[in-house]
Amino acid sequence: MLTGKHLIAGEWVGGETMFSSEPAEGSAGSYAVAGPTEVERAAAAAEDAFWSYGYSTRAERAAFLNRIADEIEARGEAITEIGSAETGLPGARLRGERGRTTGQLRLFASHIEKGDYLDRRRDAALPDGQPLARPDIRLMERPVGPVAVFGASNFPLAFSTAGGDTAAALAAGCPVVVKGHSAHPGTGEIVAQAIDAAIKATGIHPGTFSLLQGNNRELGSSLVKHRLIKAVGFTGSLGGGRALFDLCAGRPEPIPFFGELGSVNPMFVMPTAGKARGEAIAKGWAGSLTLGAGQFCTNPGVVVMVKGGDADAFVNAAVAALEPIGAQTMLTDGIAAAYRSGRDSIRATGGVREVLTSMCDLRNATPYLFLTSGANWLANHVLGEEIFGPLGLVVMVEDLGEMEKIARSFQGQLTATVHMDDADGPQAKKLMPILERKAGRILANGYPTGVEVCDAMVHGGPYPASTNFGATSVGTLSIRRFLRPVCYQNIPDEMLPEDLSDI
Ligand code: NAP
Repeated sequence: MLTGKHLIAGEWVGGETMFSSEPAEGSAGSYAVAGPTEVERAAAAAEDAFWSYGYSTRAERAAFLNRIADEIEARGEAITEIGSAETGLPGARLRGERGRTTGQLRLFASHIEKGDYLDRRRDAALPDGQPLARPDIRLMERPVGPVAVFGASNFPLAFSTAGGDTAAALAAGCPVVVKGHSAHPGTGEIVAQAIDAAIKATGIHPGTFSLLQGNNRELGSSLVKHRLIKAVGFTGSLGGGRALFDLCAGRPEPIPFFGELGSVNPMFVMPTAGKARGEAIAKGWAGSLTLGAGQFCTNPGVVVMVKGGDADAFVNAAVAALEPIGAQTMLTDGIAAAYRSGRDSIRATGGVREVLTSMCDLRNATPYLFLTSGANWLANHVLGEEIFGPLGLVVMVEDLGEMEKIARSFQGQLTATVHMDDADGPQAKKLMPILERKAGRILANGYPTGVEVCDAMVHGGPYPASTNFGATSVGTLSIRRFLRPVCYQNIPDEMLPEDLSDI
C-alpha cells in the first residue's frame, strides 16, 4: 500500500506540493515533493540519531542490516511489480537485482562483524624512548556522521533506497537521508517501508533513515548543502553529479562527494585474439552492449582494434548479433531522449560511419553501431563521451602503436577490457600501465557488465568515472568512504572506544 509520502525519522509525512510518477506501464502515482523544511527535519533527526547509531556495536548494526534484507525479501513481489511498471525493467532483472541488494546488505553485515575494516593500529608507549618518550598511540576508523544518498535511475534497488551507498553508510555507523530518484518513487517507498520495519524491529533510532521524495533540483541542492550532512553518495549523470560535487566543495565546510558518473568502458581486442575468435568476441560484446537497453554504467561502448580483415569480420559479426535485438524500454522519457541526442551528436561528427542503423522513438532504444579511425577518434573528443544506451563505436587503428595512443587519450573509466590470447601477451602487457592509470577495474577476456559485490571489487576510477579516485561504490571497500581515521594518544583505556580495548 503506497502513501506517496516521505519517511522522516519513522513518520510518514505528506506535503502540499506533489509530482506524478511517469511509469513505463500502468497508471501514474502521486508523490510529495520535499522542500527545505523536510530536509531540515530529516538532517536534524539523522544528527540526533548519530549520537546513538554512530556508537552502536558492530553486532547491532549487522543485525539491523540483516533485518533490512529480510524485510525487503518479505515485500519481494510487491517491489518487483511496481519496480517493473515504473522503470520498464523486466521482472526477472528486478528479482535478480533484489538478490544483489539483500546479498549486499548481508555481506556488509558479516564484513563489519569481522572488524578488519576498522583498520585498528597501535604504537605502544615507549616511556624510555630516545630522544623523547613516546605515549601510547592508537588509531581506528570512525563514522563521519549523517550521509546523503542519491538513488540511481538505472538500479532501482541495488543503487537506490537500500542500495550500495545506503548499505555502506549504515554499515559504517552513519545515518542516511535518501533523495529518492523521481523515476521510481513507488519502488523507493516500499523499500523505505522495509527499512522502517527493520528500525522498529531492532530498536534503532528512527532518525537513522529518512527517504525524501521529489523531482526538482532544489531538493538535491538543499540536501547536499545542509550543514549537518557530512558526505554524499551519488550515481547518475556527469552534469548532475558535477553540479552537486561543486556545491559540496563550495560549502563553508566542504564535504566529500562520492559520485559515480560517466564511463565508456573501452575494450581493446588484440590481434591474435581478434583473428582466432573475433566473431565470438563480437557476439559477446553485442550481448553486453545491449543488456538492460545498455543502461549500465559499465556498458562497453567503445572497441579498439587494428584495422584489416579481422576487424572487418568483427564488425560484420557485431552487426549480425545486434540487428535482431529489437527496441527495449528505457528507464525514463528523458533518458530515451538523451540517448537519441547522443546518437545524433555521433552522426554529426565528421569521419564516422553508421554501420548499423535502426529506428527508435518515445521511450524506446534500439542498437546503433558506428565506425571511425584512430586519427579521427584522437581529433574528436566528443566520441569519448558516454552515451547511455545500446550504442557501440568501433575505433579502427593503424597499428598497435596507435592503439596505445588511443589508450592514453581516454578519460578516467570505471573499466577497461583487453581481449587477448597467449601470443598477444607482450603487447597487452604494454597496455597495462596505461590502463591502470585510466580505470578502476581492468579485465581480460570478459565483459564489464555484471559487477561482483565482493571484497576485491573496485567500481570507481579517475574522473569522470568517479569524483573520488580513492573510492569504490561496490564491494566491502565502499564502507571506507563513510569513515575517517581518529588517533587516540595517551587516552586511558576506560575512555577508548570498545573496539580499541583489545589491541
Ligand atoms: P541525473 O539526472 O544525474 O539524476 C540523478 C539524481 O540527481 C536525481 O535524483 C536528480 O534529481 C538529481 N540531480 C541531478 N542533477 C541535479 C542538480 N543539478 N541539482 C540537484 N539534483 C540533481 O541522472 P538520471 O536521471 O539517472 O539519468 C540521466 C542521465 O544520467 C542518463 O541519460 C545517463 O546519461 C546518466 N546516468 C549514468 C549512470 C552511470 O552509472 N554512469 C547511471 C544513471 C544515469 P531528479 O530526480 O529531480 O531529476
